[in-house]
Amino acid sequence: MKPTLPFNATLNNVAVYQPGRPIEEVAREVGLPPGDIIKLASNENPLGPSPAAVAAMRNTLENLHLYPDGNAFYLKQRLAAKLGLEPGNLILGNGSNEIIEFVGHALMGPGADVVVSQYCFAVYPMMAQLFGANLIAVPAKNYGHDLPAMLAAITPQTRVIFVANPNNPTGTLASSSDVTRLILETPSSVMIAMDEAYVEFLDEPLDLVSLVRDGRFPNLLLMRTFSKIFGLAGLRIGYGIGHPEVIAALEKVRQPFNINSIAQAGALAALDDVEHLRRTRANNSAGLRFLEQSLHELGLETIPSAANFILARVGDGKRVFDQLQRRGVIVRPLGGYQLPEWIRITVGTPEENHRCVTELKSVLGG
Ligand code: PMP
Repeated sequence: MKPTLPFNATLNNVAVYQPGRPIEEVAREVGLPPGDIIKLASNENPLGPSPAAVAAMRNTLENLHLYPDGNAFYLKQRLAAKLGLEPGNLILGNGSNEIIEFVGHALMGPGADVVVSQYCFAVYPMMAQLFGANLIAVPAKNYGHDLPAMLAAITPQTRVIFVANPNNPTGTLASSSDVTRLILETPSSVMIAMDEAYVEFLDEPLDLVSLVRDGRFPNLLLMRTFSKIFGLAGLRIGYGIGHPEVIAALEKVRQPFNINSIAQAGALAALDDVEHLRRTRANNSAGLRFLEQSLHELGLETIPSAANFILARVGDGKRVFDQLQRRGVIVRPLGGYQLPEWIRITVGTPEENHRCVTELKSVLGG
């Protein structure tokens, strides 16, 4: 029997997010032991979680019969101290994806415009569709955000503009002057949702936290995550940084216990594991250099990346993805991002990067 339920009409337009394929699933499909498979598909930290975070999380297990602290007091205190802000400037999400969803609940609806870039992170258009808002996708420039054109695309109906810097899936970084101009010139009635999921990989990031601190741009919301450099993607925790009244509005749409106790403890410990962060950053910059050079040696075009992954133009991205997968290397095909000729490779450990390049070389017949 088919259901005849009257689903909300907006659901007709909502695409389903296609995540990187899990190791176990690929292992079952291609008949390789999971231990022989490497995943360079979801911009995860190849060094794993911080050992200090793992220890802190273990310590929470005995108390899992208790609800978590719905306000995440200790984590917010620590984050606020690190950022030079007040806890009231912060909201925690079940991954930064949930922060994007909060923005949808608070600001999107039929009649609202949402401005994004071509090749933007897939969750922004999905949220616009889910809430019945109208998406304005501005053509990219050299695969990156064309911020002046995005600024010019703002209409009187625009409620939110999303900018990921560095961007996923392309890895591009917008110039500081373009970002500054965007913040200065975006009307105060439009939320600037700056997605800083990869900001910790930058050597000299533009300091937008100071703009939240001085309160001059109450329409600026920064979004960050523990999934990338902190190596805690499986934990699902991210955060938003903004004006206290904006945070208070977003808090109204947050479920009371969206951040579980394990996640609160893990994130708190990870924040202070400076050594793990240093190692991750060093592994990433060496790995990016290696991948870029090796891909060029294979005759492949790449896009200069400021994040923990790199795009390679391989021709038929889906075919190369499939063949790499059969050889136990999971990367990300980008057909769903209108980049069918490209694959995205996350920086792995030196051994993983080497294996990826070797397998890619055989797949390409080199
Ligand atoms: N923003 C960007 C730009 C991302 O690449 C990702 C992860 N792919 C996210 C947000 C969401 O990450 P999470 O929900 O794991 O924090």
